[in-house]
Amino acid sequence: MLKRISGWLGEALQPKHRRIACLQVEVSTACQLSCRYCPRTVMANGWRSEIMSWDLYERCLAPHFDLFAMIFLQGWGEPLTNPRFWDMVALAKKAGRQVGFITNALLFGPREIELACELDVDLVCFTFTGATAATHEHYRAGADFTALAGSVAALAARKAAGGRSNPTIGVSYTMIRGNLAELPEAVRLAATLGAGQFTANHLDCIPAPALENDAVFLSPRQDDEALVADAARQAASAGIFFRAEPPTLGGEILVCEANPLHTTLFVKADGTVVPCHQMALPQDIVSSLWFRGAPCGYSPLTLGNAADTPLPEILANRQAQEIFDCFERRAGFSLDRPIPEAPPVCKACYKLYGA
Ligand code: SF4
Repeated sequence: MLKRISGWLGEALQPKHRRIACLQVEVSTACQLSCRYCPRTVMANGWRSEIMSWDLYERCLAPHFDLFAMIFLQGWGEPLTNPRFWDMVALAKKAGRQVGFITNALLFGPREIELACELDVDLVCFTFTGATAATHEHYRAGADFTALAGSVAALAARKAAGGRSNPTIGVSYTMIRGNLAELPEAVRLAATLGAGQFTANHLDCIPAPALENDAVFLSPRQDDEALVADAARQAASAGIFFRAEPPTLGGEILVCEANPLHTTLFVKADGTVVPCHQMALPQDIVSSLWFRGAPCGYSPLTLGNAADTPLPEILANRQAQEIFDCFERRAGFSLDRPIPEAPPVCKACYKLYGA
C-alpha cells in the first residue's frame, strides 16, 4: 500500500537546504478496503483504526512544518477517511509546504478533484495492484477498478481544462507475483489516463508466512527483469517518470529508501514519531512480521510523541540522532574504513536490501 514518494522527491523535490525532505503524517489508520497483503487485513482483529485529531495536527505538527519541504499525508490507512483531511491539506499549503497524498480514490470524487486543484496540491498518487479489474479487485477486496481509473482520468481532465501543472498525478503499483506480468500494461494504462509518474513497489512488509509466496524478490523468475525493463520502455515512450524497485535483492545497501531524518520522518495517528513507515506499525504487528522465512521479532524504534514533546526536541534526542548519524556515516563511508553497521532494527527489513 504504502507510501513511496522518493521517486517523486527524486524528480521534483530535492532536500536542498532543508534537513528533512518529507514529513509523512499518518492522518488515518482506517481503510475501506481489505487488501489481501496488508497487515490491517491479516491482523484484522488486532488492528486499531485511528483518526489523527485536528488538535494534534494543528497544535503539535503545523508549527514545525518549516522543518520539512513536503508534508505527505499518508500512513497505514486511507487518508481521506479523516474528516478533517482537506483542512489538513489547506493548513500545510498555507504554511508554504508542498503537499501530497496517496489514495485508493474511493472518497475522491468531483468535489475532491476541485479541492485538490483549488488548494494546489502538489502530488496525488493513486494505488493500483493490477492493470485489470480482475487482478486489482482480487488483491484489493472492496476496490472498484473502473472508478479508480475514472478518478485518475477525471483529475487529469480537470488539470488540462484549467491549464494546471499541479497536482502531479502518480500511480503507485504494488508488485506481487500474481500481477508482475501486468506491469507494462499498467504503465500504458497510467499514461493513457493522464498520470505523470509511475512507481512500482514491492510487497516488502510481510505479515503472514503464506504471503512470502507473493513477494517477487523472494522467488525471482527469469523474465522478471524483462518485465520491469518493458515497463520502463513503456514509460519512456509515453514520456512519464518511472521508477521500479529491482525485482531481485542483493546485499545490504548503504542507505534505505526512507533514509530516516534525511528524507523522511513519520508521525503516527496518535502522535508517535518513528523513523519510517516500517516502524510505524503497532508493536504486536511488527513482532509478527515475516523476514526470510522466520518471524522478524524486532521492536520498532520510537523517537517520542509529538503530542507532548515539540518535534525539534524529538529530532535532537539521542535515539533520533543515532539513527540519523548511522545512515549518514554509511552514506559517506570511505574505502579505507569498514562500513558502519546498520541499525539493528533495520536488519530484518527488506528495505535495507533494496526492496
Ligand atoms: S531499513 Fe530501517 S530505516 Fe529503512 S525502512 Fe527499514 S526499518 Fe526503516
